[in-house]
Amino acid sequence: ARPLRDLVFPISTAPYKQKHYPSIRVMQWNILAQALGEGKDDFIRCPLDALNWQERKFLILEEILTYRPDILCLQEVDHYYDTFHPIMTSLGYCGSFLPKPWSPCLDVEQNNGPDGCALFYRRSRFSLCAAAHLRLCAKMLPTNQVAIVQTLKCQATGRQLCVAVTHLKARSGWERLRSAQGADLLQNLCRLTVGSGCQSLAASSTLPLIVCGDFNAVPSEDVYKRFSSSTLGLNSAYKLLSSDRQTEPAYTSWKIRPSGESCSTLDYIWYTHDALSVDCLLNIPTEEQIGPDRLPSYHYPSDHLSLLCDISFRHQ
Ligand code: NDP
Ligand code: CA
Repeated sequence: ARPLRDLVFPISTAPYKQKHYPSIRVMQWNILAQALGEGKDDFIRCPLDALNWQERKFLILEEILTYRPDILCLQEVDHYYDTFHPIMTSLGYCGSFLPKPWSPCLDVEQNNGPDGCALFYRRSRFSLCAAAHLRLCAKMLPTNQVAIVQTLKCQATGRQLCVAVTHLKARSGWERLRSAQGADLLQNLCRLTVGSGCQSLAASSTLPLIVCGDFNAVPSEDVYKRFSSSTLGLNSAYKLLSSDRQTEPAYTSWKIRPSGESCSTLDYIWYTHDALSVDCLLNIPTEEQIGPDRLPSYHYPSDHLSLLCDISFRHQ
């Protein structure tokens, strides 16, 4: 069996800590589209039967059910209607799905439809106030990447929160497109969280925001800088695992293709640091736990690791 990952409680830098409402558990995960894993990715060290959907789906669901997130953000979902929607609905979640306009899954023989982003929230905790399905643009031109944005209202406290999930353009050489997609997403998030004109309003008057995604960008890339320096006041949750609270983990994805081994940080959970705080994070498995054949494997169903943290509102 796969080793359990520890929940890590980073030491808070806040001089005071009010006891707040129960935190909100958020999971971010690129689960690896079934059609891409079997048909396109060419993970040469992963045995083919480790990619068998009938087995792999249970590993994905096991991971989700082990941690029972309140908000679940997924990328590369190509089994929404036949798997995740019915199962998650029966477990008390409300879900939405936005396929990519031209999913590469459709090029694979016997595909199960397009892949896309999915967002689930626990029905007993939240109600939906507003939703936007975005096709991301780059310099006004529509691209093949999407985002779901939802404003949720916490039933117990009445507080509202905006949640977004996205999957930016993959591969090296596409850094400028990712940056432009990130700029478009930020602009849309400004519009959706403050209503009218982002710059003119103080951060405190905006909705707290959580953005989960496979950004396909390492921390040195433009799009990462855009997110960390935007007027929305976002911080990347997984930096809090490091001792200086400033460093991203060494990897969130680790795979071996014929072109070589790729070990990189591509996935992020961004949160509004003035309004929200991170109480704990799910640790990243060690190199030994991941093993010499890297990801995916019999133990880890995707080439990306899930990210998970508990987030709470800072003040009443
Ligand atoms: P991306 O470049 O964003 O990648 C698509 C997927 O491929 C991602 O999920 C990515 O995973 C994965 N991937 C990344 N690197 C590799 C690799 N080296 N080998 C295999 N898979 C990899 O794709 P786009 O959204 O830009 O779509 C491109 C594809 O879509 C085209 O190849 C075509 O098949 C199709 N398309 C068709 C069009 C049409 O007119 N019919 C128009 C546009 C696109 P991860 O994010 O985990 O890295
Ligand atoms: Ca992929």
